[in-house]
Amino acid sequence: MACAQVLLVEDDPAIARSVIYTLERDGLAVTHSLLLSDARRQLGLRAPDLLILDVGLPDGSGLDLCREIRTASNLPVLMLSAHGEEIDRVLGLELGADDYVSKPFSPRELLARVRGMLRRARMHAPAPVPSSGVSPFDIDLAGQRISLQGRQLQLTRREFGLLADLLRHPGRIRSREDLLAAVWGADSDSTDRTVDTHIKTLRAKLQEAAPGQDYIVTHRGMGYCMGT
Ligand code: CA
Repeated sequence: MACAQVLLVEDDPAIARSVIYTLERDGLAVTHSLLLSDARRQLGLRAPDLLILDVGLPDGSGLDLCREIRTASNLPVLMLSAHGEEIDRVLGLELGADDYVSKPFSPRELLARVRGMLRRARMHAPAPVPSSGVSPFDIDLAGQRISLQGRQLQLTRREFGLLADLLRHPGRIRSREDLLAAVWGADSDSTDRTVDTHIKTLRAKLQEAAPGQDYIVTHRGMGYCMGT
């Protein structure tokens, strides 16, 4: 099995160094981001096998990124919470983080948690969504990838979230509010128009992959639905 890829989001250089050293020595490949913005970019380029996410980062809270990830993916998330920040730990777990360690932590303890999470993720890897032989889509939630008729789609994070949501509700109309809440989060400033814009680009990508097909059906005034 290829060595597991870990994305570490941590702005404290000393902590990052010791985590990277420990994980790499154990054969894991580590990519490091100091900022949430860079972490989002990394996640868009390639889904890691596991995310280690600090809460307090210079450009925002790791909790927000954790929430975003959970709208569309089962990517294992280990939160690093500042010492004594009980609220971060509770919130992180509520938002769907799989585990946490409080600072200061020993690198060995972190490694043991990471190993345990990777093992569980492999055991519980979602079976490919049952296609019952008819769906032309293959969805890899952990890897945030979707293929159409065997061709991997090049989707942005939001497009992935939209398509994954529509595929989870086949034949059901999803209102723009449903999609906003599922993909952007309930407290986002995005509007119905944001959904429409992303559906438009998503639709263009699907048509490019499967010309002549229109999988996403617009129900005027109501929302969108995955046709079959
Ligand atoms: Ca920090």
